[in-house]
This record gives sequence, structure tokens and C-alpha cells, in this order.
Amino acid sequence: MAQQLGGQPIIILKQGTTESRGQEAQNNNIAAAKAVAAAVRSTLGPKGMDKMLIDGIGDITITNDGVTILKEMDIEHPAAKMMVEIAKTQDAEVGDGTTSSVIIGGELLKNAEGLLAQSVHPTVIAEGYQMASAKSLEILDKIAITVKPTDTGILKKIAETALTGKNAEVEKEHLCDIIVKAVISVIDAEGKADLAHINVEKKVGGSVDDSILVKGMAIDKERAHPEMPKSVKNAKILLLNAPLEFKKTEVNATIKISTVGQAQAFLESEQHMVEAMVDKVIKSGANVLFCQKGIDDVAQHYLAKANILAIRRVKKSDCENLSRATGGNIVNSVDAITAKDLGTAGLVEERKVSGGEMIFVSECRNPKAVSIIVKGGTEHSVDELERAIHDALMVVSVVVEGKKVVAGGGAPEIELALRLREYAQTIGGRAQLAIETFASSMEVIPRALAENAGLDAIDMLVDLRAAHEAGKKTYGVNCDTGKPADMIKLGVVEPLRVKTQAISSAAEVAVMILRIDDIIAAQKSAGPAGGGMPPGMMG
Ligand code: ADP
Ligand code: MG
Repeated sequence: MAQQLGGQPIIILKQGTTESRGQEAQNNNIAAAKAVAAAVRSTLGPKGMDKMLIDGIGDITITNDGVTILKEMDIEHPAAKMMVEIAKTQDAEVGDGTTSSVIIGGELLKNAEGLLAQSVHPTVIAEGYQMASAKSLEILDKIAITVKPTDTGILKKIAETALTGKNAEVEKEHLCDIIVKAVISVIDAEGKADLAHINVEKKVGGSVDDSILVKGMAIDKERAHPEMPKSVKNAKILLLNAPLEFKKTEVNATIKISTVGQAQAFLESEQHMVEAMVDKVIKSGANVLFCQKGIDDVAQHYLAKANILAIRRVKKSDCENLSRATGGNIVNSVDAITAKDLGTAGLVEERKVSGGEMIFVSECRNPKAVSIIVKGGTEHSVDELERAIHDALMVVSVVVEGKKVVAGGGAPEIELALRLREYAQTIGGRAQLAIETFASSMEVIPRALAENAGLDAIDMLVDLRAAHEAGKKTYGVNCDTGKPADMIKLGVVEPLRVKTQAISSAAEVAVMILRIDDIIAAQKSAGPAGGGMPPGMMG
């Protein structure tokens, strides 16, 4: 960048810095954003296709999940990266709608190009888009339907819609039942369902139908010692966050042992210490022990002799969930154990699942933590299933908390397009153009749904607009019949928040990209983090 001042060029940027300005910068950014949207468009909806992703070391992932695809793609362009961020935010906030959010973002930018070509200033477009985005949230809120967390029928439909198009589709009934039951069990006093309290364990082998919900915990561990009982009824469970081991001396003291007798005495004193610790566990009345730390051979022996089922090196998060499932407290020292700290479960058992041992803590009275064991034929299918289940758990918990749902299948987007066009009329001027463009951009969702189902998208849009003008607000794309249909009747429902989040973050990023008129990129080696966002991109 060189400015002329009295004939003398003033160099303000380091050599090697590249810059693109104005129209060129804008075109470049928009093209990148459109490319990201195009990459995921064919995966949208129940008839969407999957992508096979191959990473640097040849591992493959087969997925239909927008955010997974984008995360795996090695994206360099800064504007494209911003698009990927939309999907990541969507995933983190609501767990579903990642593809939709990116497609909408791309469409907003693509259609903005048309306005730019008509010399509408980017600032005007940005303003119009922001107004339209805010209005969209109002409109969506008005057409949303309120549901109760006890309405398991709707919650199952929510889960089912989120699972649509994924490999998980085969056995949706069973899976959705598990998902809804799991979320409902962890609802807390404030009506929130924290997914951290749902432990999902993947197992290769069997089929999706064999996936199960454990009312309690299932953890990927085995008994500490083969002589311990395999199964304990009416379990009294101690959760211990302290080692059952002989404490090694802190400093590197050498113990001088010169006779056999001394060695014997030393070993005995070590055994006594451990025995005394185990005694405290036994005295507590526990018949099952989950230990976050180690249990040494001597302790294992004593525990086995006392008929206690013990599991060692249990993860902290598993221990916390065990506490929620069994009502027990995590105790930090063997000296602090009281009878009140023990949790209970009808049955604790070591069972073989797909060739590996697992510990099941089941028949808990009022478990506030549960486990889902996900099964599938191959590693790839279990992985995709786990992603799908995560999405479904998220959407169900989002509805449990937000209590509002909308129809899916492009119905809300068509309704938005219609209402936003009416709204644009009341604004007038150049902003009106931008709002109308925003309105048309919404139709990309039903269009892509129709295209991916092999339908004539133009016919479908014409029919859908007509239906919505006639007041049929929940009509969307029926991918099987190729005709508009009431999505609520078909059971295609989504959380309101999935839609509002997708539209507002897509609009936000589109506005951000439109406002950029200068890309200043430092040379790779010059920046502290080569390949990151050039300074001009932040703002
Ligand atoms: P995303 O990552 O955006 O969730 P999906 O591939 O899951 O992408 O597709 C979501 C879209 O598909 C939503 O608009 C949703 O309403 C729609 N959809 C889901 N199931 C159906 C169905 N059975 N019929 C029509 N549309 C559906
Ligand atoms: Mg989805």
C-alpha cells in the first residue's frame, strides 16, 4: 500500500504484504463463502447425500453432518473460515441445523452480489440484512408452537427430525425413545437438561436396534480383580477419590534392609497399612467400590476376600455421574467415609458387551445421570450414529428448555420469505431492496430440500408459496410425494432455537463479510501464526 504525498511514495506496509481492495476484495470473499455453502448443499435434508472425508493419514469418515464435513476440510480462505465458524457456533449452541446455517449464509452473500451489481452500497445491504434478521426472529416466534417437557410425543418427533438423513435412520423409533427418556431423566430443578449427565458409550458389534438406555451408569471398565463378585444386588456404593495403595515415601529415602527378617517386617507393615485402609471401606458397609485412583494388589486381595466389587481408575466425570445416578457422595479420604455417603443401585454387574467388559450400575431409584450404549455394525457407522445421537440429544434438551418448536421441511423459511416481503414494503427506499433479497434468500432451504429429493424445485416453490398465502403456515416439502404437505402432521418438527440461531448467525457473518472492502494479508512467515486470519479480516 503506497500513498502519494507530494510525489514521494510512503510505504506503510511491510514488503511482501498483499492487499486487495474494494470490489475485488468483496468478490473474492463472496466467492469463497459461496464455495463453502456449495460444498454442503447436497447433504441437506432427508434425501441428502453423504460425504466421504479422507484425512492426511488415510482415515475415512462418512458423514452427512455439515459441521463435521467443514471441520475436516482443510479450509484456508479467511472468509471461508468465517463460514465454517457459523456451523461450529450452530453445533455448539443447538446441535443441529449446521448445514442450513451455512447454506443460508452463502445464499445471503450470493444474492447480495446482485444488489452490489445494481450499485447498492454494501452498508445499505448490511443494514437491510440486519433489519430483516431481527424481524425474522419476531416472525418465527409468532409462528412457533409451545410444547411441554412432558409431551414425549413431540420430543420424539424432534429427535426423529434431527436424525433424518443420517445413517441412524434405520431404527429411529427405538433410538428416539432412548434419546427422549435419557434427556427427561436428567432434567434438573430449574428445568434444564445438562447433557454432561448423559454418558454415551460406543460399541462396535450388533446393530442400532441393540442400542440401550441404562437407567444409571454403564462405564467402560472391568473388575479390579477376577475373584471379586461379578454381580451385586442391592448395591451399597462407595465413590472414593483416594488411592488404596501403600503410600510411597515422598522423598527418595532408601530403606536399608540387611536381613530377611527386616524385609519381611517391612512388607508386613506395608500390608498392614493397606489392610487398615481397606478395613475402613469394609466397615462403611459398602459392597461396591468405585475408586478414582489406583487400588494395589494387596488392597485388591482384601477387597475380593470381603466380597466387594471394586473398580479402579474411574474417570472423574464418570464418578460425578455415578454420584448423580446413585445418590452417593464422592469421598476424598478413607477416614472421611460415613454411611450417608453411600449410593444405592438395585444391581451392579460386570457384563460383556461386544466382546469387552463393562460395568453396569442399573435399577437406580431416581437416577439423575443415565447412559446410552450405542451399537452399530462398523466403526464408521457407530461414529456417525454417535454424532447423530449427540445432535438429537441436543435438540431435545433445547426444546425441554426453550419449550418452542416450529415445523420443518422448509415451512418456516417459506413463511419468513412471505412475511419479510410484506415487511420490506413498509420500509421503502434502498433498504427495502435488501430486505426483499433477504426474504428470497430464505427460500434456498426448501429449494435445496426439493433439489436433493430429485424434485422440480421451481414447481415446489410455487406450490409452497401458494399454500402459505392461503394461510397454511406449516406446509413444507414432502420429499416422498413431491407435493407440499403439513409438516406438523408428518411429524417433521424442529426447535425454534435451531432456526433463530441459524438465521441470525448466517446474517451476522454475511454482514461482516459484506462490510470488508480491504484484505491486507501479511506474508506467511511474518505473522506469529501463519495461515491465521489476516489482520484486515477481524473487526
Ligand atoms: P442440518 O445440518 O441443517 O440440520 P439436515 O441435513 O439435517 O441439515 O437437514 C435439515 C433440514 O431437513 C431441515 O430443514 C429439516 O426441517 C428438513 N427435514 C428433516 N426431515 C425432513 C422430512 N422428513 N421431510 C422434509 N424435510 C425434512
Ligand atoms: Mg439436521
